[in-house]
Amino acid sequence: MSAKTIRVGLIGSGFMGRSHALAFRMAPAVFDLPAGIELAMLADVDEPTAAAAAKTLCFERSTGDWRQLVNDPNIDLVAITTPNKWHKPMALAAIDAGKAVYCEKPLAPNASDAKAMADAAQAKGALTFVGFNYLKNPLVCLARDLVQSGEIGEVWSFRGWHAEDYMRDAAEPWSWRLDPAGGAGVVADLGSHIIAMAHFLVGPIETLSADIHTVIKERPVAAGSIATKPVEVDDMARALLRFANGASGMIEASWVASGRKLNLAFELTGSLGTIIIDMERMNEIRLYRAGADGREDGFKTILANADHADYAPFCPAPGHQLGFNDIKAIEVKHIIDAMMGGPSFQPDFAQAYAVQKVVDGMLTSAREQRWVHL
Ligand code: NAD
Repeated sequence: MSAKTIRVGLIGSGFMGRSHALAFRMAPAVFDLPAGIELAMLADVDEPTAAAAAKTLCFERSTGDWRQLVNDPNIDLVAITTPNKWHKPMALAAIDAGKAVYCEKPLAPNASDAKAMADAAQAKGALTFVGFNYLKNPLVCLARDLVQSGEIGEVWSFRGWHAEDYMRDAAEPWSWRLDPAGGAGVVADLGSHIIAMAHFLVGPIETLSADIHTVIKERPVAAGSIATKPVEVDDMARALLRFANGASGMIEASWVASGRKLNLAFELTGSLGTIIIDMERMNEIRLYRAGADGREDGFKTILANADHADYAPFCPAPGHQLGFNDIKAIEVKHIIDAMMGGPSFQPDFAQAYAVQKVVDGMLTSAREQRWVHL
């Protein structure tokens, strides 16, 4: 890697590719980073798509062949924002070429692929970063600090869910999200986020019992088409959990939750208090501390402010609110810090493999109608 500039190669320029590009540009403007960021190359499915995206997103070079990007000696960090089934071949090639890898979630279509990726990274000593961006929300970090400092006492219960409605309409056509080659449906797409959150706040999940359901059984093969194709992946998933530390929990994921847009939420209950966060109001945390005078017994709502991790460089004023792409920029800050010898980043591939084991465990549990020990 060149001394003080990290040269980024971005694969994919859809929803997440654009978000990564914005974050790579925003992070150096907001934070005092230990290295510069160069937007070196962008790859997409073909040359014209890549060239157009590179121009819009301010990348210097482009290619229609992702292998050219991962093997380019002038790239230090490969960011993978392609559909899930591509994560493994792209990450393995990038690790093999000696790059650091920033991969979108879910890490892989299944736990065995995720393990292969984690093992390859470990064998090569590669730095890896997985895009569970909600863990970088300053208020989620506050929640974790409150848990770790014992402020809510012994953690007894985690209730968490991630509900959105982008697949609610039966006319929503077939896409890579429904392709079983990419793994599960919503249990991987959104479930992985709430599993990562549970791991981050409470610790590893040890056993689970899941129910998984496909609501819309077939969808148009393309937008506006009357030809349909059966849906083989799940639309809704629920699980009862037991954590290794003895806490009990439940998680839920749905992409057919009418009206819900970013309802990634949790309620974390301990012997001395409770924490509630909902990403539809991602700048608010609700905190209950037991023991107050009965007249004031209840939750208080705290708005994100400059005393919370990573907020102040965006804005000195409390309650002025960060958004999704700001949190992605915080994620990039943590990646650059880790690449320059700062605190290690989490979740890395090994931690994302643990998330994937829960996803696979939920599929097994639902299929075999039994509790699964991970
Ligand atoms: P998308 O369909 O909007 O974009 C995918 C991009 O990858 C497109 O530019 C497409 O042309 C490109 N692509 C596909 N195959 C390719 C190939 N073989 N070589 C090069 N480029 C290729 O998808 P998206 O919504 O951006 O999702 C991409 C990934 O990001 C998925 O893994 C998804 O789970 C994840 N994601 C994460 C979050 C988050 O909050 N972290 C949110 C949405 C999506």
